[in-house]
Amino acid sequence: MAGSTLREVGAALADLVLPRTCAGCGVPGRSVCPPCAALLTVPRLAQPRRFPVGLPPTVAAGAYAGPVRPLVNAFKEHGRAELARPLGAALALAVAAVRLGSLHPAAPVVLVPLPASRAALRARGRDHVRELTSRAVTELRAAGVPARQQRLLRRRGRVRDSAGLTPAQRRANLAGSFAPDPGAAAPPPGALLVLVDDVVTTGATLCEAARVLSAGLAPDSAPVLAAVVAATPRPSGTTPGACPGPGPYRLPTVPGHDLDRLSGPRRRD
Ligand SMILES: [Zn+2]
Repeated sequence: MAGSTLREVGAALADLVLPRTCAGCGVPGRSVCPPCAALLTVPRLAQPRRFPVGLPPTVAAGAYAGPVRPLVNAFKEHGRAELARPLGAALALAVAAVRLGSLHPAAPVVLVPLPASRAALRARGRDHVRELTSRAVTELRAAGVPARQQRLLRRRGRVRDSAGLTPAQRRANLAGSFAPDPGAAAPPPGALLVLVDDVVTTGATLCEAARVLSAGLAPDSAPVLAAVVAATPRPSGTTPGACPGPGPYRLPTVPGHDLDRLSGPRRRD
């Protein structure tokens, strides 16, 4: 808590001395300029090149491409804490979209952040997905969506870097890497569980997390869903596969999103 307050104070102080630039494209002015913010207002179903078996229906607020990559990385790796707000708003939009497209579009949502590995926590000194999740819950509640955050999963064991692994090796590498958090209270009955993360690439991690989360649910529970800030776009020229996730899922049309929530107030003092 103290750490995040300190970071906010630090960001506010940095505002006083450093000219603010868009973390996506570098233009001076706001932390995220309106054109870059607009890239995160286009919810879409994540479509990895190969759908891993068991990938939950996953909605992203935008494509992980172009200025969105440096935007997410500025928050994740380079300490631009002020980006929690716009990126949290983007995550909230993805959660709202995945909920609207589910069979229970009015159900309360429980956001389940993907827990960071111990190595990632050590390297960054913070859990950036939890920060995004908290911000998204605030945004959803402000929009009238009953939402809360619950840590239902924890990390277990070690996972090696998955770069260069085949899908089967990736699955084996991740198997057993999540476990139910023994200290977590049961989610409220009837709530939709939405796994949340910053970016989805292959979907392998979300698959494994959804498998563990689903295993602890009653058989008549709604299927686990997922929402992310951004998804790696499918390479052009490849055909999207059908999402083999549980049950039918169609992404709904989402009402226009307030861009100011993503690009911040027009005027900075
Ligand atoms: Zn920009």
